[in-house]
Amino acid sequence: SRRFSAHAAKGSSIDGIKDIIAVASGKGGVGKSTTAVNLAVALANACHLKVGLLDADIYGPSIPTMMNLQGKPEVSADRMMIPVENHGVRCMSIGFLVDKDAPIVWRGPMVMSALEKLTRGVAWGDLDILVVDMPPGTGDAQLSISQRLQLSGALIVSTPQDIALIDARRGANMFRKVEVPILGLIENMSCFKCPHCGEKSYIFGNGGAQRTADELDMKFLGEIPLEQDIRSSSDEGHPIVLAAPNSSVAKAYTDVAEKV
Ligand code: ADP
Repeated sequence: SRRFSAHAAKGSSIDGIKDIIAVASGKGGVGKSTTAVNLAVALANACHLKVGLLDADIYGPSIPTMMNLQGKPEVSADRMMIPVENHGVRCMSIGFLVDKDAPIVWRGPMVMSALEKLTRGVAWGDLDILVVDMPPGTGDAQLSISQRLQLSGALIVSTPQDIALIDARRGANMFRKVEVPILGLIENMSCFKCPHCGEKSYIFGNGGAQRTADELDMKFLGEIPLEQDIRSSSDEGHPIVLAAPNSSVAKAYTDVAEKV
């Protein structure tokens, strides 16, 4: 297909899906899921692609909330789960299958078998692109997703802080080890713009992600500011790219979508 020349010829390892890309971060809480959701919605709506979104964050699934989806997926006659759709994106998450307040206390093999069901046990239909919201970090689950799904590429999300960037580096190195091309680094929570006076504050430092991207020889895909509207629209299940399509933040996400 058009995007990932080296890998596109092979295609993904799921029938009907052209490309699978991972949205990853070295640690939790940096805005990986927020990025995955806005990117998926931008790819579907601004770029007019057929898009799926897989929540592979087994221990902390946030896609159901962020995409405003509840309930259990229906199962087809051949026992495949039908993805649940909203905002033009077909979604699957462990959050649809387990009770919201129940802790998920699974060991590795159960996580793997759950991930297998959430990927290959789903009737995705024809997709141009499946966006995978990865679990944070660089453990077993991340490695096996990277290897088994034949990823076309990975996007790394980091805050500008040194400590987050060290983890982002680890993430990048993991993908390199398994020969998944890194599409680039996105800096989230890059700065805070005061809603009253408009002054920008670089709460977590300035320029760190750009430097790390340069150092690691990967593309810097852009920066997303720390904004209350991003958080509130996520919580309401109405991603900012749809809630405020003309905002500079929505444009920043759409820019990233167009680059991948
Ligand atoms: P992760 O997937 O890395 O754990 P999330 O995407 O769940 O992180 O984000 C953690 C929290 O931070 C969420 O409440 C989310 O709404 C909020 N958040 C993420 N990015 C931003 C941003 N740029 N501005 C404001 N809030 C953000």
